[in-house]
Amino acid sequence: MKALLLEAYKQLKVTEMSEPTLGPEDLLVRVKACGICGSDIHGFDGSTGRRVPPLIMGHEAAGVVAKTGERVTQFRPGQRVTFDSTVYCGKCHFCRRGEVNLCDHREVLGVSPGEYRRHGAFAEYVAVPQHITHPLPDALSFEDAAMIEAVSVAVHAVTLTPVKLGDTAVVVGSGMIGLLAIQALRLAGAARIIAVDLDESRLRLAAQLGAEVSLNSKQRDVTRAVRDCTSGRGADVAVEAVGNSAALGTALASLRKGGALTLIGNLAPRVELPLQSVVTRQIRLQGSCASAGEYPVCIDLLARKAIQVGPLISAVAPLAEGPAWFERLYNGAPNLMKVILQP
Ligand SMILES: [Zn+2]
Ligand SMILES: [Zn+2]
Repeated sequence: MKALLLEAYKQLKVTEMSEPTLGPEDLLVRVKACGICGSDIHGFDGSTGRRVPPLIMGHEAAGVVAKTGERVTQFRPGQRVTFDSTVYCGKCHFCRRGEVNLCDHREVLGVSPGEYRRHGAFAEYVAVPQHITHPLPDALSFEDAAMIEAVSVAVHAVTLTPVKLGDTAVVVGSGMIGLLAIQALRLAGAARIIAVDLDESRLRLAAQLGAEVSLNSKQRDVTRAVRDCTSGRGADVAVEAVGNSAALGTALASLRKGGALTLIGNLAPRVELPLQSVVTRQIRLQGSCASAGEYPVCIDLLARKAIQVGPLISAVAPLAEGPAWFERLYNGAPNLMKVILQP
C-alpha cells in the first residue's frame, strides 16, 4: 500500500509499505480522508518526542471497512466508519469508569513515543480495533468525518465545563479547537460567547461560527472588554485553547468570582498561575484530555450540521502532496486551518 512515512525527523516520503496485519478484533480500513493535526506538525520535527521515526502518522480519519478480523462481529466490509484516536484497553480501572481517555494502557494512533509504535492513517490502509470504531451516516462526507476527532476534543471540554443556559463564556484561542468549542458552548446553553485571539482572520471565523464578541488581545484590554459586557462581573466560564502563560492569564482575568476555567491547550509544559487570584476568587480549574465516549453525539451533531466544520477545512489534497502540506504548515503558512489528505 501507499503510505506517507516519517522516515526521519522532518523527512516525509510517500512510499510503498506492506499492509498492516490484522488482530482478531481489528478492522482493516481503506482510508478515504485523514486530517493533519497540530500535534503531527509538532511531532514532525521531533520537538515533542511523540513521533519517533519510522512512523506513519495520522489519527483524524474516516474510511471504509475493507476486511475484518476473525472475531469482529459489529462491522462488515463496505461499511463507512470513523474511529477514535485513542486506543483504550476497555479493562483497566479508568476504562471501567468510562474514563477511556485516561486508560492506563492508552495508545494513540499514528504515535510512537518510545513505549509503543502505532502506525496511523496517512496510508491507504490502517488497522483499528473494532471497539474504538463507529459507523458513519451517509449524510456525512469522509472529509467532514475526519474532523470528528477534533470536534470530540472540544465537545468533551465543554461537557466538563459547568455551563448553564444564559451564561457568558470566554474562549481564549480561536484555532481549530477554540472554534469548535465556541459551537459546542452555544449548544450547551451559553447565551453569549466572547472569542479572544491575536489573529483577525480567526476572529472573523469565530464571529461566523457563533461568537457574539471577538476581541483581538493585541489591540484590546480583554479583561476590561469582558467586564464591560457582563455588568462588571466577568464571564461565568472560560475555555483556554492555547496553553501558555499569557492565554491562561487572560482566561483567568476574564472570569467572574466563582467562575470555572477548562484547560485544553498545553503548548507550554509549565505556565505561571496567579495563585491568589484563583484561590481568593474561588475559581475552578478543570483539565480536559481528548474525549471519552463523545464520538456518537459528535457524529450526530456533524451529520445534522449542528456543528459546522466546512469553514474549518482549508484544503483537501491527495496523499502525494502530504510532504508539501506538512512543510507549509510547519513553516506557519498564514490562514491555514485543517488540511485533509486523501490516501
Ligand atoms: Zn489531533
Ligand atoms: Zn484502560
